[in-house]
Amino acid sequence: MLGWAFALVVAQEPIVLEAGRILDGRGGVIPATRIVVSGGRIERFDPAATGRRYDLGGYTLMPGWIDGHVHLDSFFGADGRLAAEPTPAELALGTAGSAWRTLLAGFTTVQALGEASDKPVRDAIDRGLLAGPRILTSLEWIEGKGDSSGSDDDLRALVRLRKAQGADLVKIFASKSMRVGAGPTLSEHQLRVLCDEARALGLRSVVHAYRSQVAVAARAGCSQVEHATYATGADIRALAEHGTYFSPQVGIVIQNYLENKARYLGFGNYTEEGFRIMERDLPLDFEVCRLGVGTPGVKTIFSTDATAGAHGRNAEEFVVRVRECGQTAMAALVSAQSLAAEALGMGDRIGTLAPGYQADLIATDGDPSVDITATRRVVFVMRAGVVYRWDGRGKR
Ligand SMILES: [Zn+2]
Repeated sequence: MLGWAFALVVAQEPIVLEAGRILDGRGGVIPATRIVVSGGRIERFDPAATGRRYDLGGYTLMPGWIDGHVHLDSFFGADGRLAAEPTPAELALGTAGSAWRTLLAGFTTVQALGEASDKPVRDAIDRGLLAGPRILTSLEWIEGKGDSSGSDDDLRALVRLRKAQGADLVKIFASKSMRVGAGPTLSEHQLRVLCDEARALGLRSVVHAYRSQVAVAARAGCSQVEHATYATGADIRALAEHGTYFSPQVGIVIQNYLENKARYLGFGNYTEEGFRIMERDLPLDFEVCRLGVGTPGVKTIFSTDATAGAHGRNAEEFVVRVRECGQTAMAALVSAQSLAAEALGMGDRIGTLAPGYQADLIATDGDPSVDITATRRVVFVMRAGVVYRWDGRGKR
């Protein structure tokens, strides 16, 4: 923690990163150089730069990762079980703890989908009061009732309410949980009303969708589709046709539930039946991810759906993406860098390692574009020019 406090103090002075191998976040590799960071941004590449220096020459430097789907408000309580009814203080601290672990793992931006309690943590991190990734949050999600109830005006009012509450985007549940059958909860018309209203307010719309609701959300003009379990090839092609970002999860969410079953069991729909369904259908998630990666024109971004137990292990998603979805290691990395930044509407600020971009930079021991398991070995984390982690061998 001393290192972190010190870094905060000197954050205004230029920092020079001596870099050996550099990935640019767009699939390119930059020759060894020195990178000058000033005012929270990447200022320039300058092999002759001098000043306060981090020697990352033995590591691989790249833009910090972006996770398009996390639940920071999900954490285990002091009894080791899911904190289902935390006090406000426990909720704030638990959310902050999830954020800190996520940052240390190399994730410098996350999209939280989401809870009202994300907001004070997002704002505290923005104000420099807490260490964590940059957070974009939907706050509470919008959910259909499954009976086409809810007038157009009611639906628009829900979106406007989230905007007024300070949401960065809206999260819409168009399908029930896979643990309870994954049935539809909103009609195509209702989804169009919601996603149109979001766009009119300058908000992106992220839709939790299974089965044919995937194509429905794409046709309705929503920005991003989550999960897509049980979707067909035609459903996935609809994402490409409509330019909808696709956010599958294969590497950590279900595995983490299964590993921590005893800590979840008995809360809400975390039932024995729900666990049986998740275990049974994980291979179907691999299949739909393979469809996304293998279908031309589908913009498949990185996301984990991380809940309690998974925060800080987000990089497992990379490893399984490559192993089970047939994605190249470089494409998997880009899906969490420039492509994810573009999905968040921040492609001109984050996700790319170039002068003018935010100094969200991480380094790994080993080159993950060659060996994806190197994503588990993050040694350096800088966000907006502040160093939060440095446990490498180089001199400071
Ligand atoms: Zn989720």
